[in-house]
Amino acid sequence: MTRTSLNSQIALGVLLGIVVGVGLATLDQTTPLAIQSLYFVGLISTLFIDLLKMVLVPLVFTSIVVGVANLQTHQQINRVWVVTITYFILTMILAILLGLFVTNSLRPGEELQIAMFQDIMQASEAKQMTWQAFFAQFLHSLFLNPLAAMAQGQILAIVVFALIFGIALVVGGNRYTNILNLMKELLELILMLVNWIMRLAPFGIMALLIQLIATQDIELLMTLIQFVYVVIGTTLFHGLVILPLILFLTTRTTPIKLWKGAREALITALATSSSAATLPVTLRCVEQYLHVKPDVARFVLPVGATMNMDGTALYEAIAALFIANLVGVDLNLTQQLIIFFTAMFAAIGAPGIPSAGMITMAMVLQAVGLPVEAIAILLPIDRLLDTVRTMVNVEGDIIGSMVVQYWVDKT
Ligand code: ASP
Repeated sequence: MTRTSLNSQIALGVLLGIVVGVGLATLDQTTPLAIQSLYFVGLISTLFIDLLKMVLVPLVFTSIVVGVANLQTHQQINRVWVVTITYFILTMILAILLGLFVTNSLRPGEELQIAMFQDIMQASEAKQMTWQAFFAQFLHSLFLNPLAAMAQGQILAIVVFALIFGIALVVGGNRYTNILNLMKELLELILMLVNWIMRLAPFGIMALLIQLIATQDIELLMTLIQFVYVVIGTTLFHGLVILPLILFLTTRTTPIKLWKGAREALITALATSSSAATLPVTLRCVEQYLHVKPDVARFVLPVGATMNMDGTALYEAIAALFIANLVGVDLNLTQQLIIFFTAMFAAIGAPGIPSAGMITMAMVLQAVGLPVEAIAILLPIDRLLDTVRTMVNVEGDIIGSMVVQYWVDKT
């Protein structure tokens, strides 16, 4: 299938998804028609995500091993490491600063009555987690038995093991040529499977969008509409202005070229709300349409999908300030600094799965003494907000790989 026809099919899928989703949302959700439609749509969307997840673990492992091995032999590994990590940290800092600035200026949530949310808050069983506990857990999750990590889909541990494995393969030299070749062939094979799975993308994306729109809690959404605007507006500003500007200033690539090349990945991110599930598509876009060399893409993207989350970092900061406004707490500068650091940590630690940012949010709230139960207010609308922040997370990874490629080429 040509790229144009797949792209127009995906566009049609998005359009139909929105139209049918809105139609279903207006139906009484208890009618047999609505129940059966949602059941059917649920089957298709789960199937699509399951297929992406099926190839995810072997893809992450082989792509990092091959990426590291190739980079090592080119002796570019140091530069790639430094540029990648600097880019990840800098863009997340920008995202959090933007979130703090906008929320401090607009102060959403101040006029809302907390009493309205008392019921939800009481019903919540949100877990309390201090930043110390979070750090210990994070450290612990880095080094796992690789087979257990693969079986359980613990991507961060797989990334760490693959990095070490790739380095060892290079240090071992010619003795391990067979293993390296095996990894390369395995990776090519998995990428072929990704291309097959993408043929189902128009249906998967349509089903995911129908499900998302039809099951929104409109009443709560309207109550929190100001917050929703601030989150979506700021996230889009980061994704439409800040990130493309960084790309343009470093590589002279225009936003149009970026979005044309990245659209399959961005739409998949929006529909799945998972950077990890989107990774196979992201790799394909970056290598095939944006012409980043496989060595760079296969190293930067899997690491980025796990650790680099601009949208999530920004959201953590905005949501923490929003909750403070809601409960009438005025956060001073020190507390905002704590939010700054914990939001960064929470974004790095959040796995690339739907609503992961809401789970690590507990740590941010806890760090400044805000009620963790307040997460329950945001959870029902999180699926919607997660769409945009995951899209910006993935865009950040894509731009990261292009920036790294540029620096590698310069030397
Ligand atoms: N869903 C996001 C992602 O996969 C993580 C988050 O919940 O913020 O990138």
